[in-house]
Amino acid sequence: MAAQVRSTLGVQAGRVLRPIENGGEKAYLDLWTANRILLEAAGVTRVETAAICTACHVDDWYSHRLEKGRTGRFGALIAL
Ligand SMILES: [Zn+2]
Repeated sequence: MAAQVRSTLGVQAGRVLRPIENGGEKAYLDLWTANRILLEAAGVTRVETAAICTACHVDDWYSHRLEKGRTGRFGALIAL
């Protein structure tokens, strides 16, 4: 996955990938920033990030990772 992020984001990949200690090629991904970079590259000028960690707020949100896949699903609609 990290290789694909590097391929897609080029020099910007360093902003979103943080190597996992003793993880080999594995890395943590800052998905919020990665999405912002891609949206801005596509011409979106106004990007807002909720900055809410679903795993820390499972009373309000679903967290696939924390709940090991036994949870609900989100839906989203985007329109101009
Ligand atoms: Zn959290």
